[in-house]
Amino acid sequence: MKRLLAGLSLSLSLGLGVQAQVLDLAKDQRAVQLLLLGYDHPAKADAELRAMRAETAPAQGDWLDYLEARLRVQTGDLEAAAQWARGLNTPMASLVLALVHERQGRDSEALRLAEAVQHDLAANCKAWPGPREGKLDCDFRLVREALRLQARVQLRRSQMGSARTLMEQALSLARAGQDNEIAAHDLADLADIHDLLDQQELSRQALANALKLAADSPRMLARIKSYEAMLATRRGDRDAQLAAYTEALTLARSADSPRLEALLLGNLADYYLHTHKPEQAKQHAEAALPVLQRFGEPRALRNARHNLAVALVLLRQFDGARQQLALIDKLPVGGDDSASRGEELRELGAAWAKVGQAKEALALYHAERRLTLEDQQRAREAVMADLRAKYDADAQKANLELRRREHELNQQTLSNQEAVRKVTLIGAVLLGLCAVIAVLALARMRQAHRRLRANQALLQVLSERDPLTQLANRRHFQSAMAARGDEPLAGGLLMIDIDHFKRINDSHGHGAGDLVIQAVAKRLQATLREGDLLVRWGGEEFLILAPSLRTSHVQVLVDRLLLAVGEKPVALESGESLRVTISIGFGCFPLPPSGLTLPWERAINWADLALYAAKHRGRNRGVGIVEAQAEDDESLVRIESDFEGAAAAARIKLAQVIGPIALS
Ligand code: GH3
Ligand code: MG
Ligand code: MG
Repeated sequence: MKRLLAGLSLSLSLGLGVQAQVLDLAKDQRAVQLLLLGYDHPAKADAELRAMRAETAPAQGDWLDYLEARLRVQTGDLEAAAQWARGLNTPMASLVLALVHERQGRDSEALRLAEAVQHDLAANCKAWPGPREGKLDCDFRLVREALRLQARVQLRRSQMGSARTLMEQALSLARAGQDNEIAAHDLADLADIHDLLDQQELSRQALANALKLAADSPRMLARIKSYEAMLATRRGDRDAQLAAYTEALTLARSADSPRLEALLLGNLADYYLHTHKPEQAKQHAEAALPVLQRFGEPRALRNARHNLAVALVLLRQFDGARQQLALIDKLPVGGDDSASRGEELRELGAAWAKVGQAKEALALYHAERRLTLEDQQRAREAVMADLRAKYDADAQKANLELRRREHELNQQTLSNQEAVRKVTLIGAVLLGLCAVIAVLALARMRQAHRRLRANQALLQVLSERDPLTQLANRRHFQSAMAARGDEPLAGGLLMIDIDHFKRINDSHGHGAGDLVIQAVAKRLQATLREGDLLVRWGGEEFLILAPSLRTSHVQVLVDRLLLAVGEKPVALESGESLRVTISIGFGCFPLPPSGLTLPWERAINWADLALYAAKHRGRNRGVGIVEAQAEDDESLVRIESDFEGAAAAARIKLAQVIGPIALS
């Protein structure tokens, strides 16, 4: 608990902010006295403040409000103080808020606000370190308060160098303001900081100077003596420690400072604990507690309770000890105060162990261990955050460099592009010329190609067309069939042959034969529908493929074809007219009833076989296969090899359509 007294002592300082830039000494002194009174006797200070309000112009109300807020901070009524300060955004309000944050353990926020106050006002304190004609051109007490607060935070954070600088600035302000009492206070704090910095000689000198400056004030002398005791404690000089505390206690009593007295009693309890006098420790702590509670001294209160608890453990008054510990658990622990919490746990653990209470000792050992681990974890995280920040900064730097290079590259690229553009322009002109030539050449080529294609198509058409009848020839039919691939033939297939054609040739000449072929072709074509294909198969033979026809309809078509050709005679060039008949072999595929399919070449063979049957049965007729009793391809092959036999055996059923009968 060595740091505690310094913290407590430091917080007893007098700051006073006034709006006027030039210090009003009378007003300043009155405020100083009010806050001093309030430190130990808040009720009296409140009464005094009311009196001051009564005699002060309303325009100066904010100055009095500030004093009231400071009094509230002193009595620990932090909410009231904060309520006044919040939203005001003046240096006075900021200082009050900073003090509230500090009392509630939020050192970072306190530091930030104190820095802001100093920043806002320090410009007016240029006259440091000396006063001009008894006056300072700034709110030196307010700035000093802000500096001291920063010093306290830095001290708690073990930033001794900063703490020292800040405290020296505070001291120079106190001196400039010619206030020996507060200058003594600052010197005592400097003595503490020097000691922590291992500057023992400087520490001793500062303390001696502080005692000299405080000589006229028993109240401040008591405080300086408490610093002396603290420094003795640190040296391990128990006798000097006790002597200084005892002297300080006497001085505090004579100065009518019960609050300081309570703080000293708490510290004496600490002393007695460390000198193994638990009974005295208990008595001192018990005496200090109610006063500390009344004044709202959280850190001192916590420490006194802790000392009492330890004393009670050592005195084997376990119930009382546990009661105190339960009360301690309800007290707030300062945000940055895990070190003193650890020390508490260690002291308490040692006490339990000393009286043989192993269970409690072990529990506290574990609690302390946990705290240490958490501290280490926090430290690790802080280091990681630092590293991360550094990494981010490095990354940003690298990024900037990258951008710079990118920019350079872009510039370079731009000038390159300019050169390229010129070359490209010339190239483009040449290319354009080439393109025009190429386009013209291409157009020529396309035209030639189109002509060639047209010729080819014409040749193709011509090659697949019969020149005598203009019908499709056998080659056309074959290529049409080839295009269908393996797909079996479907629909009606008719093979047609002109009857006794040889006789026509023989008796009327070959030309008449040709004419007859043409006439028959026309008559056949006229009978067919669109989608039916008529082919001159060769000589005086024709083939019809009617893809959508069914068996029954095929017979109707055959009948109409026989009629179309045979009903009227063909007029020859000689003036004669000649009766022409045809024979038709037909079939409808796939073959009913089993629906067996045949490739187109075999289907034509079947139609040929039927045509042969039609010729055999007397011509001028159609014979068609309407059913085939075949289960598989093998039986179909057997039918093909003996068509007439199959018909006789009724393995195939043939239909016959007779052509028109000659009228003359
Ligand atoms: P069938 O009733 O049995 O068919 O008797 P057919 O006389 O018609 O006998 P066949 O089919 O064997 O005779 C066909 C003849 O047709 C043989 C050939 O001289 C003749 N011929 C083939 N092509 C042409 C042609 O383009 N023009 C002419 N004028 N005659 C042709
Ligand atoms: Mg023939
Ligand atoms: Mg013939």
